[in-house]
Amino acid sequence: MADASAWNGGSPIRQKPWPTWPVATAEAEQLLVAAFHSGRWTVSGAYTGRPSLEQQFTKAFADYLGVRRCVATCHGSSALTVALEVLGVGPGSEVIVPGLTWVACASAVTGVGATPILVDVDPETLCIDSEAVEGAITERTAAIMLVHLFCSLADLDRFLALSERTGIPLIEDCSQAHGATWRGRKVGSLGTIGVFSFQQTKLLTSGEGGAVVCNDDSFADRAEQLRADGRRFIAQPRIGHLDLEEVGAVQGRNYCLTEFQAALLIEGLGRLDAENGIRRENVAYLASRLDEVGGIRLQGAAPGLNERTFYHLCLRLDMAQWGSWNIDQIAEAVGTELQLGAVEAIDTPLNRNILYNPLLSPRTAAHERDHLDPRRFALPAAEAARASAFTLPHRALLGDRSDMDDILAVLAKIRRHALSQAACGRL
Ligand SMILES: *Cc1c(COP(=O)(O)O)cnc(C)c1O
Repeated sequence: MADASAWNGGSPIRQKPWPTWPVATAEAEQLLVAAFHSGRWTVSGAYTGRPSLEQQFTKAFADYLGVRRCVATCHGSSALTVALEVLGVGPGSEVIVPGLTWVACASAVTGVGATPILVDVDPETLCIDSEAVEGAITERTAAIMLVHLFCSLADLDRFLALSERTGIPLIEDCSQAHGATWRGRKVGSLGTIGVFSFQQTKLLTSGEGGAVVCNDDSFADRAEQLRADGRRFIAQPRIGHLDLEEVGAVQGRNYCLTEFQAALLIEGLGRLDAENGIRRENVAYLASRLDEVGGIRLQGAAPGLNERTFYHLCLRLDMAQWGSWNIDQIAEAVGTELQLGAVEAIDTPLNRNILYNPLLSPRTAAHERDHLDPRRFALPAAEAARASAFTLPHRALLGDRSDMDDILAVLAKIRRHALSQAACGRL
């Protein structure tokens, strides 16, 4: 059969370049250069007469989210570590973690010496399932980690009620949902502690970076010290001296953000709502026409999610309607036809993800090996999602409707092709 498709060497449907990410604006460049000349490059540099960019950003981000406090960290992973330590999670504790998420959610837990208990996700939203969580609670459960995955949110109504009833704190990992709202409140502000990543692919980015947010001043004070080697900001700084004082109330580490990263975050925060709006409008249009492709839909959302944000756009396929092609083949063909770089199926569930293997750590004691072995957890809904979902990078959503038309045309072409191959195979 003659085949002019890109994945067989033909020319792809998509010919125009896509919007780029991260976005390098002139305003960000100016802020970066100003930080460069300011004489202060980090939190632990001397006070120059005005609040650090880091403090300017954390104040702006806390206001944006509607929380009392925000403490910046150098990564989302270190923000998870700080959040766990704020809550006193350590050896002997268990933390409930969704089985479908980035590996850092589980490795941060083993990093503080506690045990991740992997639980399955809701088959529609792909976020951690509340019934599975209830079944996994033991007397050792020290925290429940919610991850708002891709374009959806964990069911906060249920988790807030569960936390209220059991007294178990909620860590809300919002690394994929900057600006999403649940019943009108920004995510990160609902759980006991919220965590964000500002890594390059995230919707608000400084290349690397993270933050811990909460409404509890004593938690925030501890977070501030945990990420700055046990030091915290003082109220009356003097020019030429550090504006940190040595407290020594916690065993801290250095997880501080640089002033350059803070400069990028200040500028990026100013664009976040507008960019979320563009992505939302494009996805609404795309979703309204997905039926024309057939056999494909958006990742589901719980009803409380009233302002949806679109991180990697997660599309679910009804595999029976895509011939004999598997999800990896379909994702690769989409990436090639759209000229979008690597488009991939979603991450492998954590019970068999090669990047999460605490048994390889020299810190894992022999008597803990069985308890920590990720393979002991069953994650059927996560596994079903892995076999039927792929994501498009969010930069593809920053353009206009004609870009969505290209995505629709590519999906329809690939489905036609997969179905015609299946028909040939049956002859
Ligand atoms: C990106 C991400 C992290 C880790 O953040 P880093 O900044 O890369 O350390 C944690 N959790 C989730 C859900 C993420 O998407």
